[in-house]
Amino acid sequence: MITIDQLIEKILAYNPKANIDRIRRAYVFSREAHCAQKRIEGSPYIHHPLAVANILADMHLDSITIAAGLLHDTIEDTDMSLNDIKDMFGNEVAFLVEAVTKLSKVEFKTKEEAQAENFRKMFLAMSKDVRVILIKFADRLHNMRTIEYLPEERQKNIAKETLEIYAPLANRLGINWLKIEFEDLCFKVLMPELFKELKEKVAKYVEVHERYFDDVKESISQRLKESGIEAKIKSRVKNVYSIYNKILKQKITFEQIYDVIGFRIITDTVPHCYEILSIIHSLWPHIPGRFKDFISLPKKNMYESLHTTVIGPLGYQMEFQIRTQEMDLIAEEGIAAHWRYKEKDNLDSKNARFIAWLRDLIKEVSDAKEFLEAVKVEVTPETIYVFTPKGDIKELPIGSTSIDFAYSIHTEVGNKCIGAKVNGRIVPLRQKLNSGDVVEIITSASQTPSKDWLKYVVTQRAKSKIKQWIRNEERKQSISLGTNLIEEEIKRHSLPLNIIKSKKMLDVMKSFGIQSLEDLYVLVGFGKLSAHQVVNRLIPDKSEEEVPQKIQKTPPQQRSVIKIKGIDNILYHIGKCCFPVPGDNIIGFITKGKGVTIHRVGCSNLERLAVNVERLVDVEWSDDGDLTSQAKLSIEAIDRPGILANLSALISSANINISYLKAMSTSDKRAIIELILDIKNKKQLFEIQNKISQVQGVLNIRR
Ligand code: MN
Repeated sequence: MITIDQLIEKILAYNPKANIDRIRRAYVFSREAHCAQKRIEGSPYIHHPLAVANILADMHLDSITIAAGLLHDTIEDTDMSLNDIKDMFGNEVAFLVEAVTKLSKVEFKTKEEAQAENFRKMFLAMSKDVRVILIKFADRLHNMRTIEYLPEERQKNIAKETLEIYAPLANRLGINWLKIEFEDLCFKVLMPELFKELKEKVAKYVEVHERYFDDVKESISQRLKESGIEAKIKSRVKNVYSIYNKILKQKITFEQIYDVIGFRIITDTVPHCYEILSIIHSLWPHIPGRFKDFISLPKKNMYESLHTTVIGPLGYQMEFQIRTQEMDLIAEEGIAAHWRYKEKDNLDSKNARFIAWLRDLIKEVSDAKEFLEAVKVEVTPETIYVFTPKGDIKELPIGSTSIDFAYSIHTEVGNKCIGAKVNGRIVPLRQKLNSGDVVEIITSASQTPSKDWLKYVVTQRAKSKIKQWIRNEERKQSISLGTNLIEEEIKRHSLPLNIIKSKKMLDVMKSFGIQSLEDLYVLVGFGKLSAHQVVNRLIPDKSEEEVPQKIQKTPPQQRSVIKIKGIDNILYHIGKCCFPVPGDNIIGFITKGKGVTIHRVGCSNLERLAVNVERLVDVEWSDDGDLTSQAKLSIEAIDRPGILANLSALISSANINISYLKAMSTSDKRAIIELILDIKNKKQLFEIQNKISQVQGVLNIRR
């Protein structure tokens, strides 16, 4: 347990100008505020804020953050108020304490949606000041370090949440040591036996290979000395959770992992990094494809380093990371590194870039659940780098396609893209991009996004933009359909059309809890409310009457009537279950956001749907002779040579187009032939059915 004096000593060691008075006052304030409380294991509560402040001091943070760390639980757990803190410690400390308090109220619910919303709040808090999340991290880390005192059930829940949310977040913010500690602490709680087993294996491995790795270090040191390069060689042991993950993902055994121990060479300048790389490559053969230059292309979390894997003595694979001291600091401390030593500094440019990334992500994603997915995807370190024709670099998650790329340039480029040239060759939009590709997007003014695209995009930006476009489009469709249905219903009751603008209509809308006429149209167009229900309340003598809601088949004349002819500005589809053709008795069913689907009366699918009576609309065929419709026929015949040719010749001689044909033969020498024909009307369908049934070998024909 650290004391306040030890803490202050530690802070002064890295920041001699730290505001010690503020830290001491915060300590006293916190101790007094929490004096009546105890930690679950029985120690005074102040141990916790003190430990949190200690972690923040380990991260070399400024005195404002450390003071806020000492105070982080005071508003929530004690009688102290935010104003007390504002008066005594100023606005900045108060802001941090308040933001952390808000985050502490965030309970990760079992429901994914609630969790997502909370997570989003976490990011929002962080987007104003990264230190909020650093304090939250320190708080969670101390709680994880002392988790053994909690009941097992709670331990598991907290560990799961930490592993799913906090560890990836730490990784995204580049705080490697924290990510590793979170992971191993959680792993230990969640799978204690496996953790123990792997930990022992790692210890054994290190022991067995010590001499070998000492020799490797020695050979490098020798060559570095000859070249006059100053560098430190450290070996690092992979953390247990990463090893577990690797075994799981790559389906390998512990013995097959080559980078249980890796080497890190820290030097002074970037040119020296590359010189060291060439020394290593001259000592041992390197594995092509394993060399990564994160100095020319830093990761999104600002990580810079050279990575290479070589085949060392006795055939062992060894991984090297080569970087400068500054890069090493960023690699370990990430975004926290930028807050070191700085009492009053503005955000530096790298930090500003990161904040911009966060803000973008928050702005782009309006829906909380999408947001959670976004973070889960975007936090994975696997990214590709592709180039615009002008040579600008775009960083995208692995698996991204030209559509993702197009949306990363501009929403309009995404919405209008019809194709892409990758490295000068035209490729399908859905083709995955690779690092180094030069991508040029081809657009067309008439192009619109398609729902299919959602299958081919991985970036949240592209997903959100496509969904947003589809939602808008569905809304437009629904407004148009809703307007049409209501106007038809009004006409059918011989009411004046301007009743829509009447006071009465306002009352009706109010009775449904609807704010605007547009919202009313949307609800009717979506099939949430029927035009009949609405207009019924406009009729004077019927206004008090209850609207029938039940399944009981409302007589057709009570529903709105639209003709297919009359709805040419509205989307309608022919039901693929029953393929009605002109002449059939038909009925329409409102499909949310997609307009009306036309079914044959008696279609079994429709009977199932018709539970939602308010979504049924009456439709009539127009007398327009040009309308064709598809009909599906299923023919059973004797499987004799030439029967397909006979059938298709017969159908085309009747001037009917075959838009689909599928034939199968059964084990008992029969053929089942499925056809979809473009048919003008029921009469024509009848005639062709009749002709087909007369073809030699045809046994049966069905619609
Ligand atoms: Mn706490």
